[in-house]
Amino acid sequence: METSAKEIWNECLAIIKDNIPAQSYKTWFLPIIPLNIDNNLLTIQVPSPFFHEYIEAQYIDILSSTLKRTMGQNAKLAYRVVVDSGRKNNFAQNNNSQQGSMLLPGTNPSNTRHTFNNINNNINNNPKTFNVQSPQNQQEPTIRNPFIIPGIKKININPQLNPNYTIDNFIEGECNRLGRSAAEAIVNQLSKTPFNPLLIHGDSGLGKTHLAQAIGNSIKNMHPEKLVLYVSANKFQTQYCDAVRSNNRNDFIHFYQILDVLIIDDVQEFAGKQSTQDTFFHIFNQLQQNGKQIILTCDKNPSELKGLSKRLLSRFRWGLVAEITVPDFETRLNILRQKAYNDGINIPEDVLEYIAENVISNVRELEGALISLLAQSTLNRKEITLELTKSIMEKVVRKPKNEFSLDYILKVVCNYFKMTPEILNTKSRKREIVQARQLAMYFAKTLTTNSLAVIGMQIGNRDHSTVLHACKTIEDLLQTDKQLKAIYDEIETKLKFANNNY
Ligand code: ADP
Ligand code: MG
Repeated sequence: METSAKEIWNECLAIIKDNIPAQSYKTWFLPIIPLNIDNNLLTIQVPSPFFHEYIEAQYIDILSSTLKRTMGQNAKLAYRVVVDSGRKNNFAQNNNSQQGSMLLPGTNPSNTRHTFNNINNNINNNPKTFNVQSPQNQQEPTIRNPFIIPGIKKININPQLNPNYTIDNFIEGECNRLGRSAAEAIVNQLSKTPFNPLLIHGDSGLGKTHLAQAIGNSIKNMHPEKLVLYVSANKFQTQYCDAVRSNNRNDFIHFYQILDVLIIDDVQEFAGKQSTQDTFFHIFNQLQQNGKQIILTCDKNPSELKGLSKRLLSRFRWGLVAEITVPDFETRLNILRQKAYNDGINIPEDVLEYIAENVISNVRELEGALISLLAQSTLNRKEITLELTKSIMEKVVRKPKNEFSLDYILKVVCNYFKMTPEILNTKSRKREIVQARQLAMYFAKTLTTNSLAVIGMQIGNRDHSTVLHACKTIEDLLQTDKQLKAIYDEIETKLKFANNNY
């Protein structure tokens, strides 16, 4: 007997449930209704176009692999969007042209770009379908054959840019004025500005990636023939290691040297990776000398960056160093207005103001708040009002997620042991000093997202293997040594509650 849509979907749900947070599962998967299955095509019903887009943006990987697991490699999925607006079975139109226009945090544009084929889907018997692709295909498209040597014909490469990031939709405020103006200047007078490199720095979620990619997009629009490439420092590093392993180091360098515009995101990730830095230094010089534009982003001012060679840091300061800071209320409000407008959703001004007043840390959280609100209003079929906003924001947004800084951890730990941070840098094997150093490293590892190399550099001036060893030691001792556990607990409390006193 054929397996029914419901049975298949239940199997999928069982897998998905184990792999995503319970709240997300409840919000995004329980409301889905499996409708029917025809050959390899499973049709599911979702309650709104927004819901559909959100699933597509956030959960396509898990959905795709789960369906393949339960239905086989040729599994296909079709959505039917049914908005309950009072009338039953009112099939909503789901406009193809809007696909991918909604900007969700963490959205990988390639998901929406290549998961759908363009079957028109306005009416119920012709639902929107897409082929379920393997998860590998869902990831960032890799640079196809990065090591091509240019021949007589100019080569073309995929710039790896997210088209949703534009300068126009990068709202200007005091917080980003310098960077944004520099971006415009670079685009309008390519290779003629002194802003080379342009280094954009600032905390997470403030728009560094957006602005850097926006420059790439504008240049590509104005000069389609220019070779533009966006790459994260991590990806650059991985590609480099692969190239070295396969004896292609020269090709790698050559590939990067033929670019017209190179955008490297999060260069702090180069910390401690000497050989990658050397290679990048080489590429950097070559591009600079040839008047090619370099754009870098970084989570710190170069003067505070640890683990990068002096010569590289000095190059970073040759052009323009532009900081992006936290946006003020007006800018936050403008960002929200724009997001709502772009998503075609009418949101009362008092609601936007309420969000702008309460979500102050960064733009990513601001967007997250708006998305939660839209999701909840869609799911519960409630109108977006100030009251609804307040109730949701209390639950969703007010989570203090700020990461501790390494400096702060160092100060709190040293303060506890009544010693100066510098003493941790000495070679002393005194038990108390070793313990303080190891605890500080352990807190840094568990409470921040810094790499072992960076932690080692800032705490104790040691290498990453020492940090690893310290973390392992503390982890073991916490299980067996009650005294250490008590110290650990006390420092942890201080870290979490003494935030303003340091
Ligand atoms: P970062 O790289 O600094 O961590 P992102 O560039 O990823 O931050 O920005 C986080 C989110 O906030 C993105 O969705 C981005 O589009 C949005 N964003 C940030 N700054 C602005 C701005 N000034 N105007 C509009 N959107 C912004
Ligand atoms: Mg970024």
